Amino acid sequence: MKESNGVAADSHKNNLITIGQKVKISDKGETFSNFTEIYPWRSPIPVVFVEGSSTEMGQQFGSAAREVIQKVVKFNLPILHNILGKSNVNASDYIERSEDSIKKYTEPDYLDEIGAMAESSGVSYQDLLLTNLNFGILSSFPTPESHYPLYPETISEKPMHCTTFSAFGNATEKGNLVAGHNDDGARFMDQFLVLKVAKPRRGKAFVSPVVPGYIGYHSVVNSNHAFLCASGISDVMKNEELTPNGVPTWFLFRWLGQFSENRDDAVRRFLSVPNLAIVSNWCFSSINQGTTVINATPKHHVIAKFPDETKEWTVTAGKLLTKELEPYILKVRHPNEGDYRYESAARAVKSRLGKINLKEGVEILSDHFDSATGTISASENTVCRHMEYGGGFGGTVRSMVVEFTKSSGSSETTTDVAVSLGNPCNAIWRKMSFDEKMNMQN
Ligand SMILES: [Zn+2]
Repeated sequence: MKESNGVAADSHKNNLITIGQKVKISDKGETFSNFTEIYPWRSPIPVVFVEGSSTEMGQQFGSAAREVIQKVVKFNLPILHNILGKSNVNASDYIERSEDSIKKYTEPDYLDEIGAMAESSGVSYQDLLLTNLNFGILSSFPTPESHYPLYPETISEKPMHCTTFSAFGNATEKGNLVAGHNDDGARFMDQFLVLKVAKPRRGKAFVSPVVPGYIGYHSVVNSNHAFLCASGISDVMKNEELTPNGVPTWFLFRWLGQFSENRDDAVRRFLSVPNLAIVSNWCFSSINQGTTVINATPKHHVIAKFPDETKEWTVTAGKLLTKELEPYILKVRHPNEGDYRYESAARAVKSRLGKINLKEGVEILSDHFDSATGTISASENTVCRHMEYGGGFGGTVRSMVVEFTKSSGSSETTTDVAVSLGNPCNAIWRKMSFDEKMNMQN
């Protein structure tokens, strides 16, 4: 049996798999798989196409994902009300403040979209909007410094930090741009992700894997060949970094994804509005400008240096990349899984410099090298994050790789997108190609 990267090469054929060095397998005996329950895990990610006005897109999406939206809202509400209650914050006041920021800094239409999605999925506007504010609530209340110990166990034993990479210019096979994002999360909500392909009346068409019910999410590629994604940081933001009003995270991603012309425009837009995100790595890419990584709290930001002098690739994991931001954060214990996963990701990219394409991007996100032990052994330190060996119920729940390719002899650029649900090492990937208007080509 040929082994590559710790994954049995013929795993697809007989459904046997070795993950890292932790599971010894035998190819004796008959094996079979039961696909009765194909969604959410062992299936290609569902695709939802929406177009038109915000209201129309909300209606279309709400009807398509009605049951899942109801589940997502039902799961979020008690957790959010509990945290707000303990923090002495009135939920209606918080919703109202958030509405004001959304209207002032992004698109008022987004609230119409939430309303239409709520109506067509059979939940209330207030409940769906509050669900869309979950990231800010979970991260900042009662205080940013105390949110980690208070992170509800129903969501995750630990806060999750994703992994991202990008490669451009000579780092890639074709001199183009390839970038990817492993979404690390807990098994409940994020396992119900669907791929949204949207053609809004205004702005750019975009493709984004989203938790049904969310207005946007932290991985989005648009028809102008811009891609943005983000990963969290294991260190904790200081309380004084929090701003009372700002654009809630999922709205910010949606707005940046829908309207950014390119990397620099996305950076400019990001810095032009107050945001409510906790300290994060924000990754902005576009085909002609490469990638910029920004470490930011709501009040301060620093642009990260490239990992080497070529300045043609980046990786992020749970690690703060800029010393200049340190005065505004509280350091947790290091080295930790974020540091190890950063090293693992850097190794995965470095070993492929000069040949990175969509397929290699999939390999990078599926990589099982653990830099803490120096072995190929799936764990929470590997790019493809597995927490189950450490007794955790989480890890990588969705992977996405994007490649922009300029056709020879024409000015057209193709956007190839590969997305998988669950751990990418043992997933069914969906690959889609889009033209300049985000029309699907396959
Ligand atoms: Zn894996």
